[in-house]
This record gives sequence, C-alpha cells and structure tokens, in this order.
Amino acid sequence: MKRPDLARYHRQSLLPGFGESGQRKLLDSTVLLLGCGALGSVAADMLARAGVGHLIIVDRDFVELTNLQRQVLFDEQDVIDSIPKAEAAKRKLAKINSGIKVTAIVDDINHTNIERYARGAEVLLDGLDNFETRYLANDFAVKNGIPYVYGAAVGTTGMAFTVIPHTPGNTGLATPCLRCLFEEPPPPGTSPTCDTVGVLSSAVAVIANFQVAEALKILTGNFDRVSPTLLNLDLWANEILQLKVSSAYEKGNCPCCKQRRFEYLDGKAGSSAASLCGRNAVQLRQRQDAAKFDMGAVAARLRGHGPVSINEFMLRVTIRDSHKDYEVTLFPDGRAIVKGTDEPAVARSVFAKYVGA
Ligand SMILES: [Zn+2]
Repeated sequence: MKRPDLARYHRQSLLPGFGESGQRKLLDSTVLLLGCGALGSVAADMLARAGVGHLIIVDRDFVELTNLQRQVLFDEQDVIDSIPKAEAAKRKLAKINSGIKVTAIVDDINHTNIERYARGAEVLLDGLDNFETRYLANDFAVKNGIPYVYGAAVGTTGMAFTVIPHTPGNTGLATPCLRCLFEEPPPPGTSPTCDTVGVLSSAVAVIANFQVAEALKILTGNFDRVSPTLLNLDLWANEILQLKVSSAYEKGNCPCCKQRRFEYLDGKAGSSAASLCGRNAVQLRQRQDAAKFDMGAVAARLRGHGPVSINEFMLRVTIRDSHKDYEVTLFPDGRAIVKGTDEPAVARSVFAKYVGA
C-alpha cells in the first residue's frame, strides 16, 4: 500500500487535538462501517478524506436510483451496473484517497459473522437500517470494549449517541450503552422507515458527520471530547436537543452492560430468517417476547407502496423494489413471509425498508 504524504492532511493537523501524531494515529486505525447506505456513505467519504487507514464496509444491498438523493458516494452508473453498495463505495473511495485501505464486504451482518468482520476495528460506526442489528452491534461493542457510534435518520429527524463501553480501565470515560437508553427495540412495524416516510438528505448528513467527528475524537485519543449526550434533532422543526443520559447506566439494570447478557450476539434474541424450500420465499420470525404487529397501523403506512389486503389473520402487500415484486405477508404473531426471493438477506432488507424492524 502506498503511504500517503501527510501534507494532504495539513488543514486537519492544524486542529487542536490532532497534530502530526493524531494524523499518524488515524492512518494506523481501523473503522468498521456497519451499513453503507445514507449514513454509511457520508461517513465513509469523510473518514477516507480524514485519512483513517483502514475502512471495513459491510452492506448487503445494491445501489438503486432512489438512493442517489442522499447516498453521496454513488452515481447513476452504479445503478445501471447494479453494483453492491460496499463495492461501489470501495471504488469511489480509492479515487478519493489511494493511501488508505478499504475492505468491501457484501453481506448481511448477523451474530454469526460480526466477530469476523470487526476484526481489528477500533470503532464501530452505525449506518444500519434496523434496530435488531444495532442491538447486535451494541452487544459486540460492550462485550469487547470497543466504542460504538450509534446514528439514525428518518424523515427530517436524526439521533446519534456514542457508546464508550465500561471496561476495568476506563471508568471515567465510559457511557451508557444503547440498551441502557432503549432497553427493547420498538415492536416491528411501529417505526417509520426512509422508504415509507421519506428522509431529508441534510438530516442524514448532519447525523453522519456528527458520528464521524465522534469517531475521529476516539481514534486520535481525545476521549475527553466525546459527546456525553444523546443528540436528537429535527431540521425541519428547527429543534436540536442534547439529552443528558449519563445516569442511565448507574440507575438502570441494563441486560447488556450491567448484567453482561449478550442476547443478540448469542443469537438468543432477534428474529430468525429461514428460506422456505421450493417456494421462493423466506420466513422471518421475531423473537418470542417481541410485541406483536399493529396490523392496522402497518396497513395504513404500506398503502402508498402497493396493493394491501388485510383481514383478521394476515396483512398482505405487494411491493416493487429494485425492479422486482415482493409479496410480503405479515401475521399478528410477528411472523412475516417475503415471497419473491429465497435469500434471507434480501428478505430482511425488504422487511427493514418497508415494514421497519
Ligand atoms: Zn447498557
């Protein structure tokens, strides 16, 4: 690998807390980007320009036309060529900074592979589209003492928070974890998604850049600068809140960081996906104690996306995604069948985009 000249980072090295030594730390560091959609592509762009030496990008999806409104690393040719996002990002980043290494992984992150993909990572940066994988990332981060920068954006709103896990050596720096703040994920079908309510590109960019700033503080060793608050903003309503959450760890009995039960990492919590043999369909099953679907509310949100039929036993909608039709059937007990694919990763993607996980 070509070693970049530090001169290109001059304007960054001038900043307090950076200097030449901070820049060298960045060049020697590794960040795992969980997802390379809106948040992930903005973050990957900025981290590459900042000179983070190794970016590991994991994403299961392909670039689509409706991504281009906010996913800054991609262009029309990526859509025409149906390039996976991780690979398209790698190609683009190589042109932006040839002095860093980018590892592109086209896969669905789950409890069986996160350990392998996170090898060597000093920060996990969240560009995910579903709660379940966020809780998995949080479990992995807390168990291994690796900082995790949570971020989410939908509609005109966004949230971000930096998790510095409690480890024996860092009691003064540690923060609550994601499960200290939100103990259980919202019931499936209750949260809006970018594909159902839309998303303001600038809200995405603000959140992603907040996450990048947090990652740069961590990687350069400026832990005293890490934000201790949960950022919550609505750019359209002109609201920016910074919520003090530091007591959530002391006061709570978090299953993850207090009890050290890593249910998502152990595969005991979260949904499972099973390909239904010979039916070109995948069944997704929520974990047993998850709240059930609010069928009426889900139906109301999905009506704009395709024909919906609903009765007391099930809700069925046909959704067109990436030039393919998927028939999604939801059952009141939290089960879902996605017809039109036999790949669990594709089914999870369609479910996360339109129903919300
Ligand atoms: Zn916790």
